[in-house]
Amino acid sequence: MLTGKNDNKKKTIIECKGRSIGGEKIIIMSGSCAVESEAQIMETARLVSAAGATILRGGAYKPRTSPYDFQGLGETGLDYLKQAAEHYGMLSISEVMDGSEIEMTADKIDILQVGTRNMQNYSLLKQLGRVKNPILLKRGFAATYREFLLAAEYIMNAGNPNVILCERGIRTFETYTRNTLDIAAVPILQELSHLPVIIDPSHGVGLRQYVEPLCYAAIAAGCDGLLIEAHPTPDEALSDAQQTISPDLLSQIVKKGRVIANAVGRNV
Ligand code: PEP
Ligand code: MN
Repeated sequence: MLTGKNDNKKKTIIECKGRSIGGEKIIIMSGSCAVESEAQIMETARLVSAAGATILRGGAYKPRTSPYDFQGLGETGLDYLKQAAEHYGMLSISEVMDGSEIEMTADKIDILQVGTRNMQNYSLLKQLGRVKNPILLKRGFAATYREFLLAAEYIMNAGNPNVILCERGIRTFETYTRNTLDIAAVPILQELSHLPVIIDPSHGVGLRQYVEPLCYAAIAAGCDGLLIEAHPTPDEALSDAQQTISPDLLSQIVKKGRVIANAVGRNV
């Protein structure tokens, strides 16, 4: 169980607009790294929802390593994401990087994401404790499980119990891959906490040819969901193209993943 005040023996199931995260069903969240245009995110939503995703992702505020790279469309991007998600009956998820973005994002978007670079931005975490939307908290790329869980506690302790933990790869000595995906995080965090645990294989490995097997490994390990970057034309994605898969591959992952999920007593 979690350290700190928010110990809770029962597994948390997050309810959001009639969908549950953390229950028997493994949730598929997918979409492009960034919202690129109205037409692009609408087409992405059409394809990923047909493939089996129920939550549409798309960054409007992008934490890019280089200030010269595409930084996202900001508020306009949130509007496009909301419109596309609603059109296809999906929930939406997008990242907030700064406290000043919270109110507007919380108004338009269902789930707010905290990126790996902000996992220990405690003032941001405290502010997210004051909104009603579920928060998807990504593990810091150099954070221990304890640091990760205590970051989640910052949000819960400030009043928001709906936190989803997301393992998205950590930095190791390996340089062939973007990060090293820590699959062990799934059973370990499931044991140490009551929160839903999901895997982001896209940032976890950074190369699209390895996303599919890692999804299966994550399902077999007992994850509650997957966050996967997909784009109608992956090579043309404005950010994270190398790790972005096609909607066809997403569809195959959902189909085969269902067989693995059934084998471990879950559903996709
Ligand atoms: C993202 O989801 O696009 C993202 C920036 O993720 P991370 O914070 O894990 O790098
Ligand atoms: Mn990305």
